[in-house]
Order: sequence, then structure tokens, then C-alpha cells
Amino acid sequence: MNKQKRTEIFTRLREANPHPETELNYTTPFELLVAVVLSAQATDKGVNKATDKLYPVANTPQAIYDLGLDGLKEYIKTIGLYNSKAENVIKLCRQLLDKHGGEVPDNRKDLEALPGVGRKTANVVLNTAFRQPTMAVDTHIFRVANRTGIAPGKNVVEVEDRLMRLVPKEFLMDAHHWLILHGRYTCVARKPRCGACLIEDLCEFKDKTVE
Ligand code: SF4
Repeated sequence: MNKQKRTEIFTRLREANPHPETELNYTTPFELLVAVVLSAQATDKGVNKATDKLYPVANTPQAIYDLGLDGLKEYIKTIGLYNSKAENVIKLCRQLLDKHGGEVPDNRKDLEALPGVGRKTANVVLNTAFRQPTMAVDTHIFRVANRTGIAPGKNVVEVEDRLMRLVPKEFLMDAHHWLILHGRYTCVARKPRCGACLIEDLCEFKDKTVE
């Protein structure tokens, strides 16, 4: 795919949604961090349902740590893998209190050192909470980048590297949100909705669906 097409794709995605946002509910970097940790292999809606009850009661590292493991599990037991996620969140709170004064660090090295936080989670927090241009490649972005030809790659790291190199700078900050939302609602996994796709004429996917 050439640069002109990529620019046109992101221009259209931006026009359709000038200020894209995560669908996870949060009001602070800490709330976002915990929500993203909880969202692994779960839906944003499912996470929001749990955190909408949890955060009014406890939304700081100290408050969640004070709930204890069993107390936290009560709030998140509707989310998949909640046992291990609860353990990670409690340890993460401890580490934030011990090493970062209860604040969420704004750099990749310290974020990735937190329990339950991998590259993708760090990318989401850096981008969404701290407005750094990062590309949190999830299953939706991986699929859209490959199908469209925007940034094809064999694995998420390859796609992340290519997106960071190939997405025109002016779109870099919000690109990951546009791509996730496009993959979640239009370029869906099993049968992409090509007839309703605003970049259909630019996309290079060979097996587009026909109306
Ligand atoms: S045209 Fe189809 S395959 Fe291409 S981005 Fe749109 S929905 Fe996805």
C-alpha cells in the first residue's frame, strides 16, 4: 500500500470520528491501568460492568490493596480469568505504593515491570492516559492492518513496528483507536462488513464481502 492511500484511509477515519476514545470507563491513569489489566481476553463492556461497581468503592492503589484478594475478587468475579487478574492487580497496587508513590509511571520500562502488564497494556496506558504515540496491537488491529494492507505483518510486534513507521505522523496519536474501532464494528473477524465500510475502495483485502 502506498503512502497516499494510507493518508486517505486515516483522513476518512478521522473525519468519521475526530476524537476517538477507549470504550473502557475510567477517570484516572490508575483506573485505566486496572481496567486494561482486567480486559485481557474479556470484553470492555464486561470490564465496565465490574469497575462501575468497584471504582466508587476503591479507585486508588491503597484502597484496592486494602480490599485484599478476596475483597477484590467479589467485584471482578464476572470477568474471565479473574483469579489470576485479582492476584496481579493486588501485586500491582503494592508495587505502585512501594516504588512509585502510588502513581502510575508514564514510561514503558516501569509499566512493563508491573505484574500483569505486558507491552500491549503499557502501550494503551502510555497512549490513552499519557498521550504518547504508541500502537497497542490487539487482535482487531492485527487483522485490520493485515487485511487492508496498511501494515501487514506475521505477528503483533511486526505489525506494531510497521504501523509506527508507516502511519503518517499527524495520525499516529489516535491511529490505534481508529483501527480497533474499525475492527470491532466494521472489519469484523468472521464476515467483514465491506458494504458498509468507509475505506472499501482503498482497502486491498482480496476476499471482501459482497452485499
Ligand atoms: S473493505 Fe472489508 S476487509 Fe477492507 S477494511 Fe473494509 S470491512 Fe475490512
